[in-house]
Amino acid sequence: MLNDTTIEKFKASLRGELIQRSDERYDEARKLWNGMFDRRPALIARCVGTADVMSAVNFARDNGLQVAVRGGGHSFAGHSVCDGGLVIDLSPMKAIRVDPAARTARAEAGVKWIEFDHETQAFGLATTGGTVSDTGIAGLTLGGGLGWLSNKHGLTVDNLISADVVTADGRFVTASATENQDLFWGLRGGSGNFGVVTSFEYRLHAVGPTILGGMVVYPLGKAKEVLRFYRGFSKAAPDELTIYALVFNPPDSDTVLALVCCYCGPLDKGEEVIRPLKSVGPPVQDMLGPMPYVAHQRITDAGFPAGSYYYTKADFLVDLTDEAIEVFAEYAATKPSLQSGVLVQTVCGAASRVASSAMAFPHRRFPYAPVIVSQWLDALDSDKNIGWARDFWRALQSFAGGGVYVNDLSDVDEDRVRIAYGANYERLAALKKKYDPDNFFRLNPNIKPTM
Ligand SMILES: Cc1cc2nc3c(=O)[nH]c(=O)nc-3n(C[C@H](O)[C@H](O)[C@H](O)COP(=O)(O)OP(=O)(O)OC[C@H]3O[C@@H](n4cnc5c(N)ncnc54)[C@H](O)[C@@H]3O)c2cc1C
Repeated sequence: MLNDTTIEKFKASLRGELIQRSDERYDEARKLWNGMFDRRPALIARCVGTADVMSAVNFARDNGLQVAVRGGGHSFAGHSVCDGGLVIDLSPMKAIRVDPAARTARAEAGVKWIEFDHETQAFGLATTGGTVSDTGIAGLTLGGGLGWLSNKHGLTVDNLISADVVTADGRFVTASATENQDLFWGLRGGSGNFGVVTSFEYRLHAVGPTILGGMVVYPLGKAKEVLRFYRGFSKAAPDELTIYALVFNPPDSDTVLALVCCYCGPLDKGEEVIRPLKSVGPPVQDMLGPMPYVAHQRITDAGFPAGSYYYTKADFLVDLTDEAIEVFAEYAATKPSLQSGVLVQTVCGAASRVASSAMAFPHRRFPYAPVIVSQWLDALDSDKNIGWARDFWRALQSFAGGGVYVNDLSDVDEDRVRIAYGANYERLAALKKKYDPDNFFRLNPNIKPTM
């Protein structure tokens, strides 16, 4: 039990706010994007800088409190809020500094991709970010980071230059290729297991501001044909082109299959490169063309509103075989909620040319990463929507490559975490022992500390 004096002392140590259960902002502050989680922390420390984070880590450790670390609050698994304990809420930490000459940016851990892109695109620069602009840079980067620029510029972790971290003992360290290299290896995919990252430094690339993007939308009846085309075309595409397949329901419309693409090379060349995407028969809608990169980065935002119930199952597929395509077509046609869907992301091009052992994120071999996302609006519908995602995923198992992207997990048990880290797990466990021997940071895809 914390007494008032202890809480007041902690409050006085922060530059940011400390929100308690009696505070009228409490319910808003504990809410996550995923409406599945209704947890009641004892305290929420809204950190505005590194000193606040150090103070929060020390306070929680010294008082034996569970901690949850919140970046953008946009994860499926809901680890960024806890019952009882302390939420270290980084969302007020919004500073971004772009160095256009060096083509780098340093951003604090509360930044979301929409904010990051806004600042970097002012200089015609970008790095690989997620497909939904409301996602935090922190959680996404710490898990890996698949996005529209990955084929050309690699994953987000491939573009991480350094990170500032507060470790479980309250120390501030920088991790990079030259400082604390072991920690730098673990941070790039290790999902918040090693400390609270207060800021990230990224490599930027010339992108846009206009790219060729958008989507071409086909009726679900053409799904098998379109996916067979997608299989061949996505693998042979130049690095400048990243293409995902997406099953969804547009407003007031039947279920469709869209090929969503981003071509970040020269526009005149791109028109020719993307033309075949429109050739699989008459589309329901053709929305492919030149557009601002920031608009493309928001293209799927409307489909993932905050507050819905979300549950996900994911995999890496060895290939999109004809049999796997049959499974996609069958389950797309039977989804129990209009809001649910599947996104097939890819790890191709530059993202696939990195060794699996180069950093904690190991998945470089299998090109297709389907994410089955159940979304529904009424708690009474939970069983059937979760059941649909699980059945769909089970049906895909014969085509799975035996890995999963850690950021796509809803069910985060030890088995799935081991699968998410594959051959890198043991090295991560040894690193956990070094940086967090008491498993203080455990509300995450948890790596158990071992020698
Ligand atoms: C609709 C949707 C679309 C997505 N699309 C993509 C995509 O295209 N590509 C992709 O790669 N991923 C994607 N993701 C997955 C996304 O990367 C993760 O959900 C990510 O964890 C979200 O980060 P966040 O900071 O917003 O979330 P949070 O919930 O705040 O954080 C998630 C977890 O990360 C850890 N964490 C967060 N911040 C820190 C920090 N500063 N220091 C230490 N640990 C921290 C904590 O353990 C926390 O529980 C998507 C997710 C959703 C919901």
